[in-house]
Amino acid sequence: MKAVKRQGVEVPAAWAATVERAFADYQAFVAEAKAFEALPIGSAERRGGFCAYVKARGIVCFRAGRGGKIAFKPLWGVSKEQIARLTSQLCAYCEGEINSPRAGQVEHYKPKSLFPLLAYDWENYFLSCAGCNGAKSDKWPEQGAYLRPDVGDPAAELEFAEDGTVKAIRGGDAECTIEDLELNRRWLVRLRRRHIEAAVEALTELLSVYAADATVGTALIENHLRRLASPETVYATAKSQCARRRWNPTRG
Ligand SMILES: [Zn+2]
Repeated sequence: MKAVKRQGVEVPAAWAATVERAFADYQAFVAEAKAFEALPIGSAERRGGFCAYVKARGIVCFRAGRGGKIAFKPLWGVSKEQIARLTSQLCAYCEGEINSPRAGQVEHYKPKSLFPLLAYDWENYFLSCAGCNGAKSDKWPEQGAYLRPDVGDPAAELEFAEDGTVKAIRGGDAECTIEDLELNRRWLVRLRRRHIEAAVEALTELLSVYAADATVGTALIENHLRRLASPETVYATAKSQCARRRWNPTRG
């Protein structure tokens, strides 16, 4: 998971007005959303999602779509370019590469179905691949929270192995994040392993330089590790953790 610094994201000046216009009755939406978010997170009514909640209560706050469908208008699409820059076009959760706007999704950290008041909050958006977003979907833990890319250093909670898998160091939120986002899904693990192998192989070659000349070897290895950890690098956390583990015992 990437550590994200939420800088340089400019919410359009007219954003609030744009959001208001998307609703048939914005005030009713806010009032109902507040009441809905006061429901226990584990209750069936809350888990059923906000759209079902207003529909069941006959509240008209959304503009009905085709066939009377009630749904959040996906205005967040306009944020994609800026949100993508936050993570150098990598998925905020798995650090995989996203090669087109079509392949990247604006993911709601707190799902809009459970936290409707955050549906249009840009601080709640991260760029995500279809794999992570699809796995996460409307899930939210009953206790705790998922690791949040823009809070602290989420990588410090995760331990990547050379086989491409990841585990939680202290359990809790990290464990729940790995499970619900399927961060050990087969295709992702396979890709991550391939990248880790290349990073470790390059490190191994540099270790032979180090054996011959410690000063030159150390400089080359530190450069290699710096490149691996670059925020623009895919699977940077996994690659740099695994390479660092190979390097540290050598010096110890
Ligand atoms: Zn992902």
